[in-house]
This record gives sequence, structure tokens and C-alpha cells, in this order.
Amino acid sequence: MSRRKTPAAAVSPATAGDRAASHAAPPRVGFVSLGCPKALVDSERILTQLKVEGYDIVPTYDAADIVVVNTCGFIDSAVEESLEAIGEAMAENGRVIVTGCLGAREQVIRQKHPHVLAVTGPQRYEEVVGAVHRHLPPQHDPYLDLVPPQGVKLTPRHYAYLKISEGCNHRCTFCIIPSMRGDLVSRPVDEVMREAERLVAAGVKELLVISQDTSAYGADLRYAARPWRNRQCATSLSGLCGALGELGAWVRLHYVYPYAHVDEIIPLMAERRILPYLDIPLQHGSASVLRRMKRPAAAEGTLMRIERWREICPDLTIRSTFIVGFPGETEREFDELLAFIAAARLDRVGCFAYSPVDGAAANRLEGAVPEEVKEERRGRFMEAQATISRTRLADKVGRSLQVLVDEVRADGSGIARSSADAPEIDGVVIIEPHAALRAGQFATVRVTASSDHDLMGVLGEQGRAGGTVAIVR
Ligand code: SF4
Repeated sequence: MSRRKTPAAAVSPATAGDRAASHAAPPRVGFVSLGCPKALVDSERILTQLKVEGYDIVPTYDAADIVVVNTCGFIDSAVEESLEAIGEAMAENGRVIVTGCLGAREQVIRQKHPHVLAVTGPQRYEEVVGAVHRHLPPQHDPYLDLVPPQGVKLTPRHYAYLKISEGCNHRCTFCIIPSMRGDLVSRPVDEVMREAERLVAAGVKELLVISQDTSAYGADLRYAARPWRNRQCATSLSGLCGALGELGAWVRLHYVYPYAHVDEIIPLMAERRILPYLDIPLQHGSASVLRRMKRPAAAEGTLMRIERWREICPDLTIRSTFIVGFPGETEREFDELLAFIAAARLDRVGCFAYSPVDGAAANRLEGAVPEEVKEERRGRFMEAQATISRTRLADKVGRSLQVLVDEVRADGSGIARSSADAPEIDGVVIIEPHAALRAGQFATVRVTASSDHDLMGVLGEQGRAGGTVAIVR
């Protein structure tokens, strides 16, 4: 969970000269973005629209005429953080519009902060922009329309999230997202591809595909074919991955469920047209727990599927998240989970102790697991997985990897990521100081050492920044 106030660098700056040329100072909006990458993309869309309309996006409460808070309501701690952020904005500025997931529960917000100007729910872009218009009318000046074609981004210039759909058709018992965001609504593939092309043209080198359920992409549109680059392209996971693979950028898939048709995209990974990386939130390894969770895939099939994927693409990195202490979880079911992770040998894993979410169906299940048992199981799980992750990282020592440099530190060393590392959630590759390192550029690194989460390396001979995105094995 991250709380980001809009940094000044995230917007196209209006210069002093531009300002002098305007008839009046543009209305100024402050923005606080909370929650997951999907919420971040919502924030970017809202900011893009506001910027198009001539609003200045400012980084402090003092400088803002109004503040928009994009909230998260996924779990209780997220609700708390959202309410706290609204309280801070009210205290520091006083003119606050609330949007995002928690916006779907207006009474919770109004109970604590009755004087917010407006509350809108998730994906209600028009509504939140309309609320800004009502309380702070725009002063559009076409000569000051400085929005870049790729829109306003909160991520560094070299990577960007690409949201391909909203909502979800599943009803996992621990989750309330479908009740807040509704059923699956996919964006037509040509629309997604136009956005992806704009991003790449603006210098983005890595596209991170996100949604609630990436594998289900296009099902609501019956995988309709759409025109793109003089051909018809299906609005489906494989249609999208094939097209994205032509752009010359890294393409990383998040929130993929192991349905049978995911098999179709593994050859694209083996051919390095998209990154050999899958973020699959498996949540458990016991079939009976998965049934109680109403998860969209079964454990035994998943192990076989992973094995087959690795035969086709041996370098495939799999990251996942798991929940321990789900209601009714027995010691035997927990042991099944441990056996599952031992067999699956996943690369990156997160583990959460189950925490009930207000309104989730799982709250009605019997057999709540005591907190100390949940924590004890989480500890055992992480210990078992740490050995697996450490060994898999150590296997990379001595190899050459292509990396994307995120940052060059003051001492000249680099913080980079390989195909195995998604930003913010995975480890990094730490590169020894070298004058040729450039943030936002690809480099080739020889791996010299590994730790529990990260790799260390030296810049290889072809490590100078380059345009190629071929992945070095
Ligand atoms: S797949 Fe399950 S956990 Fe994920 S958004 Fe849909 S209902 Fe929630």
C-alpha cells in the first residue's frame, strides 16, 4: 500500500513565461493516490483529464485550491489509511473530494468526515472530474494545454501500468472487489494497443499489464476482433500479448490465473516476445481451502500446468501470494499448502495472515483460526519459501542478464531489475558503480552474488544503454 501525493515532476510544468502569458493563474488541484496499481492507473486517468482541462496539479496541500483523495477499501487497514488520509487533507486544506474503492461506501466516509465536498466510487472518472468542475471551475487556456500524449503518469518515465479491464466475474469469498467494481468490463484491444503505442513512443520501456483477472481479458466482449496495424486482432489474452510483443518494450503480466488458455502465451515468453514472468495470485495449495475460497483454479491442475510451462520456457519466473489461516484451515490443509510450495518451487512469494474484510462472504464461514496460529503458520510458510527463493536466486550467479536500470545512486552504483523483478514488489539487481550506467536504460549485467531477495552484479561488456530488449539468458 503506498500513499503518493502527486509529485511536481509528474506533470508537465507550466513555465514562468507560460504563466505570465495566461490571463489568470490556473485552478490548482492536489492529489493523494492510495492503494494498488489499478487505483494508481485510475489516478493517472483523472489527473490526465484535469490537466487536459487546464488545471495545475500541485504537490502540496498549501498550494492546492482543492484536494482529491483516491482511496483504497480492500482490507480494514486500507480503510483506516484512507480515512486517515482524508482527515489529513481536511485538516491541511479543508476542500476535499473523495473517490476510489472506499468511495463506494459513502456512509463510512461521511460518518468520520461529514464535510468532504463530494464522494464518488471507483472508476467514476466523469463523476470525480464533474465534482472538481462544480467546486473549482476550469479555466481552460488552449495555449497552456501541455498534456503529453501519453497522459500524466505517476510512475518513473521508463515504465507504466497498462490497465486492460475493470471488474471481475469471480466471487472469491474473502474479496469484496466485485461488489465495489462490478463484473468484468474489458477495454477493446485496439484501444489498449493505442495507449501502449503512445506510452512506448513517449519513452516507456516496460509495460506492466494489470486488471483484476488478466486471464479473463476479452471474455465479456466474446474476444471480438478489432483492427490494429492493418490486421484484425482478437480482444483476448493471446491476441493482446502477441500485439504487445511487437512494440519493442518489456511486457510484464500481472494477476494471471492458471486457466488452460494461459498455455497459449508461454511460447511468446519462450521466444522473448513478452517477459517470461507471471504474477499468479494462487492464495492456497489445498483443494478444500481453495473450494471454500471459491478460487478460479484448482491446486493439482496448477502444479501440472506450472511444470508444463517450465518445460516450454525454462526461464519462467513465477510470483504469487498466499493466505494462511483462512477460516476452517486445518493443520492438514496447511501441510498441503507447504507441500504445494515445495513442489511448485515458485520464485517470489508473498504471504498474508487471513484478515476478515467487512462485507466478505468468508466472514460467515465457521472455524476462525486464532491469531497466534495464523502468525505461527505464516512464519513456517515464509521460512520454507525463503529457502526455495534463495536457492533459485543463487542459481543465477555467473549468468548474464539483461536489466532495466531504475536508478543510479550518488556513488555511481545502479539499482536495476531483470525480467524476474517487477517494480515495487520483487527484488532488484544491484550493479557495482560504473560511469556508463543510465537510469531508464537497458544494460547487460554479469551476476556475481545473490542474497535472500536480490542479485549483485557488474556491468557486462555490452552493458552500455541500448535500444534492444532481447533478453539475455
Ligand atoms: S478473482 Fe477473486 S480475489 Fe480477484 S478480484 Fe475477483 S473476486 Fe476478488
